[in-house]
Formats: sequence, C-alpha cells, structure tokens
Amino acid sequence: MTALADLLVAQIARTGPMSVADYMTDCLMHPTHGYYATRDPFGQNGDFITAPEISQMFGELLGLSVAQAWMDQGRPAAISLAELGPGRGTLMADALRATQAVPGFHAALTVHFVEASVVLRQAQVKAVPNAVWHDRIDSLPERPLYLIANEFFDALPIRQFQRDGDAWREKMVGQEQDRLRFGLSAPAALAQLEGRLGDTKDGDLVEYCPALPHIMQTIGGRIAAHGGAALIVDYGDWASLGDTLQALRAHAHVDPLSAPGECDLTAHVDFAAIADHCGPAKYTRLTPQGVFLERLGITARAKSLAKALNEPALETHVKAHRRLTHPAEMGDLFKVMGIYPTAATPPAGLEP
Ligand code: SAH
Repeated sequence: MTALADLLVAQIARTGPMSVADYMTDCLMHPTHGYYATRDPFGQNGDFITAPEISQMFGELLGLSVAQAWMDQGRPAAISLAELGPGRGTLMADALRATQAVPGFHAALTVHFVEASVVLRQAQVKAVPNAVWHDRIDSLPERPLYLIANEFFDALPIRQFQRDGDAWREKMVGQEQDRLRFGLSAPAALAQLEGRLGDTKDGDLVEYCPALPHIMQTIGGRIAAHGGAALIVDYGDWASLGDTLQALRAHAHVDPLSAPGECDLTAHVDFAAIADHCGPAKYTRLTPQGVFLERLGITARAKSLAKALNEPALETHVKAHRRLTHPAEMGDLFKVMGIYPTAATPPAGLEP
C-alpha cells in the first residue's frame, strides 16, 4: 500500500466510491503524493519514455511542420507557440533549435507552456528559460496559436461507463477490507453518451474524458478566430471502445489500483472526441505517427545526423528512428491529428 492508497481508502470509507476520473486526478496530480506532482518520470531509468526523449528528430520535425504552417498563413506577427504538458521541455527545445533559420519565426513567437506539475516546470525552465507558464489553457493569449501536444491527452482523467440496456453503469473505485477495488454504480441515462448508443451493445465499456471538450473548444476557438494550427499526437484511435486504463511502472504494466501515486496512469485518446469539439476550426485526417514523420522527411534527417555518429551512438540513433516510425513500435499505435482554420491548408505531413 502507498501513502496515497491509505488516504483514498479512508476517504472512500467516509464519503463513498469515487469515479475513475477522480481517482486518476489524485494519482497523477495530488499535491503531495501525485505521480506528476512529485517526480520526473521520463527516460530509461524512469517509468516510461516518450517520443521527444527517444530522439531529437521528433521535436525538430514537429517544429518545422508548425513553422511551415506559420509561413503558409502569411507569417503573422505576435504569435503564441504553445505546448500542452511539455514534460522535460525537450520537444520545444528541439523545435526551437530546428526553426532558428526560418526567417522571422523566432521574432514573431512567444513560447507558452500549459503545465500542472511544479516539478516538471523546473525541468522546463532549464530547457526553455524564456517561456511563459500557464496552469490552464484558458489564459493563452488571444492571438494566432501554433500548438503542440504530445502525450498530453492520454494523461487527462477519464470516466468509464458500462452499457446496461439504454443506460450506463459507471465504473467506480471503492474499498473493501482496506484495499481499493473496482465496482459499478446503479444504471443511469447519460446525455453525454447518447451518441454512443448507436455504436455499442449491452455490456460494452466506453470512456469519456470530461476535461477534453473545453480544452478542444479553446484551441479550436483561438485557431478559428486568430489563425494558427495544432498538432495533437497521442496513442489511441477513432472513438474509444473497451477498457484502456493502464498503469506503467519501470516500463512494465501493473494493476492500476496497486500503487496509486507511484505509477503513471493513462488511457487511449478518443480522437473522435477531439474532432467533435474543435468547433469552428477544421481537423485533419487521423494519421499514423510513422507516416506523418516519413512525410516530414525523418529518413533524410536520420541519414544526415548519422554521418556525425560512431558506435555505439549510431546504433542508438538507428534504433530511435525505427522506434518512432515502425508500425510494430510507435509508428502505428501513435496517431497525429491537426487542427487548422477553415480557409488554410492543413499542417505539413497531414491531409484534410
Ligand atoms: N509532452 C511530454 C510529456 C508527456 S507526459 C513528452 O512527450 O515527453 C504528460 C505531461 O502533461 C506532463 O508534463 C504532465 O505534468 C502534464 N499534465 C498532465 N495533466 C495535466 C493537466 N491537467 N494540465 C496541465 N498539464 C498536465
């Protein structure tokens, strides 16, 4: 049992079972025991590794795609280059380095980070010292918004519902004999899941991310009103079906209830929900990460970087290229969706 598990068991005994979303919120962001609130989880020695930590090529190519979108829209002055959940800040540092030679881009932009974790903000300050930090997306300035989010939406808490006739039972975290365990609430009709009655059957489990609609409306609203583009990269697919809640510790899957606060909790991203809520802006076709990076020229970039490398760095570099793009590794599981103004062309690497 972790310290957070003791707290949650006592709280549930007092006030009753909690939703999976509330459980995730405490596990990830509890001010003293939360996973992201207390540590830097990335890297070979951490619990998991993300694309920007695998290779500099990832941030470089995403940065160039965004800079291209900025040029395609007539190089607006005074833009926000924003990132949601920037982790160690590696992606943005790579993106800024790669776009240094794009005339006027750096002069036009201010970097904005939306980050909830105090510990990770400390790493981000080192990587990108002159960024502006935000607790929530709402305070991003009203101006053209060029935004990147990699593995941000998968960390947002989800609620889980099991279909029961035309109603839904919510999966809840309860406690029994001082241990956390899952249970189901009584069935109720739910307006936000009405659309899912058409593509599910009795007993199916669906996931719903309560924070997503407002975040996407804000992004879509800013981009439609002022111009810009967003690149959203995550693991998931079109519409969630089934239980995708997973816990990772030291690069291995563990029971999500086993060590609250000490493992990463994520769920697959429902890209249909992202598309549904981007409002007056348009969304691109959902594209596998491997295809997207190939279109942006990752192979040419990998070859050029390889020239300066000797073993063992060369082998690591070749493996990183494969890991980011190969369908059996991250190439197919991770998807990219772009958001852009109706009158603009889609960001480089993506199709309408
Ligand atoms: N994009 C980074 C990190 C991914 S991990 C990378 O690719 O390496 C998820 C990131 O989102 C972390 O920085 C975490 O602290 C942040 N985060 C999670 N939930 C958040 C929320 N509700 N608001 C702001 N940041 C959040």
